[in-house]
Amino acid sequence: MLSTESITSLRAKLTAGEITPVDIIDSLEASINEKDAAIGGYLAFDFDTAREEAKNADLSLPLGGIPIAIKDNINVKGQPLTCASKFLEGAFISPYDATVITKLREAGAIPLGRTNLDEFAMGSTSGNSAIKRTNNPADPSRVPGGSSGGSAAVVAADTAIAALGSDTGGSIRQPASHCGIVGLKPSYGRVSRYGLVAFASSLDQIGPMTKSVDDAALLLNAITGYDPADSTSLEDDNTDFTADIDGGVKGLKLGVPKEYFSDAIDPAIKAIFDETAAKLEAAGAELVPISLPHTEYAVATYYIIAPAEASSNLSRFDGIRYGNRAENPENLIDLYRKSRAQGFGAEVKRRIILGTYVLSSGYHDAYYTKAQKVRTLIRKDFTDAFANVDAILSPVAPTAAPKHGENADDPLTEYLADICTIAANLAGIPGISVPAGTVESDSGTKLPVGLQILGPDLGESILLKIAKTVESL
Ligand code: GLN
Repeated sequence: MLSTESITSLRAKLTAGEITPVDIIDSLEASINEKDAAIGGYLAFDFDTAREEAKNADLSLPLGGIPIAIKDNINVKGQPLTCASKFLEGAFISPYDATVITKLREAGAIPLGRTNLDEFAMGSTSGNSAIKRTNNPADPSRVPGGSSGGSAAVVAADTAIAALGSDTGGSIRQPASHCGIVGLKPSYGRVSRYGLVAFASSLDQIGPMTKSVDDAALLLNAITGYDPADSTSLEDDNTDFTADIDGGVKGLKLGVPKEYFSDAIDPAIKAIFDETAAKLEAAGAELVPISLPHTEYAVATYYIIAPAEASSNLSRFDGIRYGNRAENPENLIDLYRKSRAQGFGAEVKRRIILGTYVLSSGYHDAYYTKAQKVRTLIRKDFTDAFANVDAILSPVAPTAAPKHGENADDPLTEYLADICTIAANLAGIPGISVPAGTVESDSGTKLPVGLQILGPDLGESILLKIAKTVESL
């Protein structure tokens, strides 16, 4: 089955003339028809368009003929975009390609399928999707993580070759960990956000979700670079992320931050971490105990800044410019009010209300400005740490994938579970989750667990080579 293979192995077969891009689409269609009803990873797919594009694929390009599943908050021209929200469902067709999609096409890849997510990427279970539930392929009674849970599930279930996700506070790395795949959040500015529906603009990044570390590097190569349409995108340094990937870890100093191992971390997760860290040490790395002293404020800081930005970004959904419009409004204000009340789900409303509150005059300085100051301290923690270590190791999440609905009426517990991932977004540094082991659930299923590796600004190459070592151990 071609659907089970990685980009790397499919590319070898394509260039050797053993298979065609249409064969890959056919295999994916069969796999999706067989499995997606049970997994629920996709919100939409268009095999006909993909097959047409596959027929014209230029195999000389780095991703020539490779289909990529796309999280449904990234615009793909001519395709529906929902952000898993009632606001947009059935009411919006993308008029343009996001820059990452243009870049994928320029590299020869074919966008295929829109993957489920928490509504507007707010959440960590995909349970906030207003459209459907996604199950973890390793255990359908459990969540795939989120918010890029659909992308993680389809890659893990071999109903996609690879996918794009977005990460504002962990949404690529955490579902990758829960589903047993590789997920990379690039440095802020590495990848253009143009055409990604904005959640929290100073934190959002698009990144690869793949079956292997090599595939993550290939996909990253394709999507990075300066974009005049995103003023926060960085000048291209023309890094080839595959170049140093087999370099190994000999002589690397890997920091282990004591603050990431609080009582919240499940002992089974800690055990997998210790085992993996010991293997890296045996492979020649040096483990260095470090401190990131402001870690305890990261969750609170994030849940002020992210909702503040969200409340502003989501004001564009007013019932006039995008998506569904409430019927029979009494006047303009009533139209806004009704459209937003009907269109947004509970978590999105919670964030908008929270964000509006922390930005309101009288509270702005106490919450928003204060949070920005703490954010600077969190970033300084990392800059100080990277003066002494090459990368930082930690768990991705305190537990393996929870059961559906486990924290449904307890948002705070869910927010606190972001403890290991959100500081990287606040600091703007890159992070990767690579499969490190499995824990057995009470029902005997084997739940995947990832290792998180964090690096200095633009340090993706170091992360990839450490991750590749973990993958090979
Ligand atoms: N779980 C975090 C939140 O709900 C992160 C989401 C994300 O990265 N998009 O905000």
